[in-house]
Amino acid sequence: MAIGEDFNYWQGEFGDNYRTGVCDYINDEKVEEILARAAEPTRGEIRRIIDKSLELRGLTPEEAATLLLVEDEELIDEFLEAARQIKEKIYGKRLVLFAPLYFANICSNNCLYCGFRRDNQEVQRKKLTQEEIRKEVEALEREGHKRLLVLTGESPATDLDYVIKGIETAYQTKTEKGGEIRRINVEIAPLSTEQFRELKKAKIGTYTCFQETYHRPTYKRMHPEGPKANYEWRLTAMDRAQQAGIDDVGIGALFGLYDYRFEVIGLLLHAEYLDKTYGVGPHTISVPRLNPALGTPIQEPPYPVSDEDFKKLVAVLRLAVPYTGIILTTRESEEMRNELFLHGVSQISAGSRTTPGGYDENEERRHDLEQFSLHDLRPIDDIIIEIARNGYIPSFCTACYRLGRTGQDFMDLAKPGKIQEFCKPNAMMTFKEYLVDYGTEKSREFGERCLAEQLEELKKEHPKLASKIAENLEKIGRGEHDLYL
Ligand code: SAM
Ligand code: SF4
Repeated sequence: MAIGEDFNYWQGEFGDNYRTGVCDYINDEKVEEILARAAEPTRGEIRRIIDKSLELRGLTPEEAATLLLVEDEELIDEFLEAARQIKEKIYGKRLVLFAPLYFANICSNNCLYCGFRRDNQEVQRKKLTQEEIRKEVEALEREGHKRLLVLTGESPATDLDYVIKGIETAYQTKTEKGGEIRRINVEIAPLSTEQFRELKKAKIGTYTCFQETYHRPTYKRMHPEGPKANYEWRLTAMDRAQQAGIDDVGIGALFGLYDYRFEVIGLLLHAEYLDKTYGVGPHTISVPRLNPALGTPIQEPPYPVSDEDFKKLVAVLRLAVPYTGIILTTRESEEMRNELFLHGVSQISAGSRTTPGGYDENEERRHDLEQFSLHDLRPIDDIIIEIARNGYIPSFCTACYRLGRTGQDFMDLAKPGKIQEFCKPNAMMTFKEYLVDYGTEKSREFGERCLAEQLEELKKEHPKLASKIAENLEKIGRGEHDLYL
């Protein structure tokens, strides 16, 4: 099918076999009840919940709902501090970086908030050829990226075969100085179990799909047409992914469509359901906030989430699901990102473009191809300097996925706190690789200082490991690549 041709391919056929337990596990009445039961928390109860979270046992949705109702600044500061401690205990002082790569902006759906929506006449449609994908990946590798998130709209023009081919192209694309992509996560529309099996064969990392809103009436209003209009087909996507053997899955909600408290409880119920059903919760939770997009009916969020509430909700998620990564994108400003990575966020996108073809240096930034506007437009090296200046290690690590430490295996390491012994050294080694191959004078200055401090800390905790890592850092300095534990 040529781009721009009739998008009405979808006939509303899903079969009738896709409903799973999650459809009953998350329902509007249950979420409302949880929020209602949590009304008027006492100081004592809040402190009890904060203390429990510090034992890294997570929180029930009811306890999280109680924290979400807190307005007292002093108490909010207490759980922001608890979120910082939990993040450091489990993940150490590191922040994983990735880049989104849009293959195409063609879509059969009509989501009211998205620039790629079918009826948007102001957007120029574009689908990258395999050659164009290769060029985009080369540009990203030359910036130092090792982890990608592949995205597309939902359309027969960009069917699963096309996406898989694009993933293969991206993995095969290599550049000088050991430039290569080592992990590709995927964020595309929900697939059937059979299709998820095909996707798994393409060696993807995490499969991600945001429910957007867990509130059914809002979902219906926001997604009037196309396959995405089916709430339950989307909600059950993670069941099909798990059944197909994809055990790292990522969930998320688009904050601003409905009451943020409702969405947080929806996310936590979804996480709880996955944990109970498959023995492993979501690998990541994403927290995008709605940004204006060209040519869409929704220019202002119907339920705006203030910066203060946004910080609070991220901290509550960190306390409630301590072992789940939290992802923040360049939809957020530099200031918000700097603050939130101290209080719970563990992965961020950097140097992002939301346009297919947006990384090609010869192209100007094209707003008429974009999915939504971005706030943090800094180049990756500037972001890295800022992270290192804050004493955190920017990480490009892909070790767990490549060594098969996914799903339950990952959780078995994460829960007794063992993941730190891998994550921190791997973060240090991948950061060193970045500095040697792609760093500027300034990032090397801050980066080397940060690495020296981290090595000193590691010496105190694990002297043997520290001497091995010191040796590896030297090897990387001499040009070796891809060392990991
Ligand atoms: N088309 C697939 C889908 O909808 O799941 C793939 C991902 S879509 C390209 C990525 C995500 O972008 C959506 O799930 C939605 O949450 C988010 N998004 C869409 N419009 C947005 C906007 N105006 N501001 C912020 N995020 C937006
Ligand atoms: Fe299409 Fe996804 Fe945008 Fe909806 S959010 S219009 S499905 S690209």
